[in-house]
Amino acid sequence: MTTDPDCIFCKIIAGEAPAAVVARDEAAIAFMDVNPITPGHLLVVPCDHHVSFGTIPGAILSHMMLTAQWLAAALQASPIRTEGINLWLADGAAAGQEVWHAHLHVIPRWSGDGLRISALRGARPGGDELEQHAATIRAAAAD
Ligand code: 5GP
Ligand code: ZN
Repeated sequence: MTTDPDCIFCKIIAGEAPAAVVARDEAAIAFMDVNPITPGHLLVVPCDHHVSFGTIPGAILSHMMLTAQWLAAALQASPIRTEGINLWLADGAAAGQEVWHAHLHVIPRWSGDGLRISALRGARPGGDELEQHAATIRAAAAD
């Protein structure tokens, strides 16, 4: 198991720091966010220490996503107010990552819950620009 002694999520996984754990297995753990955006806010975390989304092995990433789906259903079946769900993954400081052990947020949502995700979108780019970006990304994509 890959671990970082200075990482708070590794400490939780090792049982060296407290957390309200909902589920865990060999690959991933799910626990309550200590400072929830809405009640029921969960984090799904790989047991191995991966800083970034990009280095999580595919099988573990798939397992994290299936765990998030399963927990979303549990939230919806529970008395915790859940009219919708947002999944959120912050990869990198510019994206808002604050804990450097990759994790997937599962956030119960309801109309009027106060969470705002705002964006300053400009005008729609022309089709040429979209095609150019698609070609640039295709060229950069690893096989
Ligand atoms: P990020 O911005 O990195 O995606 O989010 C980190 C999340 O981890 C935040 O929502 C924060 O409240 C949560 N968090 C930070 N430290 C702890 C901790 O020690 N225990 C738990 N349960 N959650 C934490
Ligand atoms: Zn860690």
